[in-house]
Amino acid sequence: MAIVIKADCPECGVVRLSAGELTVRVCTDDGTGAYCFRCEACGSAISHDASTDVCDLLVSAGVARVDWRWPAELVDRPGGPQFTNDDLLDFHLQLREDDELIKTLVALDDANHSTG
Ligand SMILES: [Zn+2]
Repeated sequence: MAIVIKADCPECGVVRLSAGELTVRVCTDDGTGAYCFRCEACGSAISHDASTDVCDLLVSAGVARVDWRWPAELVDRPGGPQFTNDDLLDFHLQLREDDELIKTLVALDDANHSTG
């Protein structure tokens, strides 16, 4: 006998789904979970936060589980002080005073016009 899972669509209310129509997504970094499905009636992609117990129950009922992680870039922050508005202004002034940079940019612009 197939298991019927009831879930809530914000547009349609309670909808009935089979285990194959849902996915459990678990963040392995913080342990938070959610279950996701596409509502057959309105086509909306829906995700609801779910406790570990609910995620485990859905998986035991045959729902596929997908583990995911936050991007490593969120953890590997560059060192040093934060970039400030004063830094931006200093950079702007340095660009205006950097003759070598201006020569390079003009040369690049000339090269682009001569080839393109
Ligand atoms: Zn719906």
